[in-house]
Amino acid sequence: MPRIALIPGDGIGVEVVREARRLLEALNDSESINFELVEWDLGADRYLRDGTTITDDEFRSLSDDYDAVLLGALGDPRVPGNEHAKDILLGMRFKLDLYVNFRPCVLLAPELCPLRDVPGSLRLETFRENTEGAYTGMGGSFKTGTPDEVAIEEDVNTRKGVERIIRAAFEFAHTRGRERVTLVDKSNVQRHVGGLYRRVFAEVGEGYPDIAQDAMYVDAMAMDLVRRPERYQVIVTSNLFGDIISDLAAEITGGLGLAPSANMNPGRQALFEPVHGSAPDIAGQNKANPIGAIRCVGLMLDYFGHAEIGERVEAAVAASVREGRTTPDLGGDLSTEDVGQWISAHIAKGTPAST
Ligand code: ATP
Repeated sequence: MPRIALIPGDGIGVEVVREARRLLEALNDSESINFELVEWDLGADRYLRDGTTITDDEFRSLSDDYDAVLLGALGDPRVPGNEHAKDILLGMRFKLDLYVNFRPCVLLAPELCPLRDVPGSLRLETFRENTEGAYTGMGGSFKTGTPDEVAIEEDVNTRKGVERIIRAAFEFAHTRGRERVTLVDKSNVQRHVGGLYRRVFAEVGEGYPDIAQDAMYVDAMAMDLVRRPERYQVIVTSNLFGDIISDLAAEITGGLGLAPSANMNPGRQALFEPVHGSAPDIAGQNKANPIGAIRCVGLMLDYFGHAEIGERVEAAVAASVREGRTTPDLGGDLSTEDVGQWISAHIAKGTPAST
């Protein structure tokens, strides 16, 4: 039985994880799956209470005693330095070696796309490297606060790290029938890092002759994703570029409230989290869109081999959007709880994936 740690975290994280939990419990009651759900008290409240972000023992337990984590969001105005978020989220990514950050963005209804010429369908699936690049914290400052200040932030990339994310993207495309994988980099300026990415992309790509392959500079990609997003399918890129490009992909497919993500070390450990943050501006008002978190449940089901039930989650989400059963960010007037209840009920009714 997979054991899942639920970490609601801060702000709207608490509200959206409540709805994800509702769905998991409904599925536990009605389906062949049987997830053990254990709620964890990590976040700003705990940090402010006892000064602890997350302990080594807690990391060890998450790694050894759990099969996956579902995280809501971390971030609270009372912790302006965001220490707890850095320790917990970056700590999990690094210590659990969750090297794949998978961010699938699917356009569920044409009216959700802010572009003028809306493509018929859109499925942009980003594989963002998650354990190195510009996120290692390597670097430093010198003569801080003076006119001669120097600031260095290293972009650290290893052959191992680059190869495993590129391989994950190709393997996904191969097993899921995707036709194109696009590498995004800035190899015209970052010749060392970009050179490594390009070489490894070409080498790994040789093993997938049936998949169309191309490489784009990140600036050109930003333009092209707005101009003709339908050209792209699977995107593979570094930690920093993946952060940016996947937000753009999320926005052109309906916005942050809909986007899920999976941080994975495939076969070992996975952490699922909606792409959005804790949104302090709407926290506690029961109006956050729970769909990003609910789609995380869909990704989790897929990860544990229940792809068909995962597709039904996607279908129920699509139905809620089609029928206008949405929160205000998508133009509806339902609460977080209403949307969560509607989607859970829709799935529990046994609605097939094709509806
Ligand atoms: P962080 O720094 O943690 O990413 P943030 O406040 O900068 O936090 P988000 O929390 O992602 O960024 O929110 C950005 C904006 O999008 C906010 O104004 C918020 O109201 C809106 N938003 C984010 N998530 C949702 C959601 N699930 N439902 C509705 N609106 C959302």
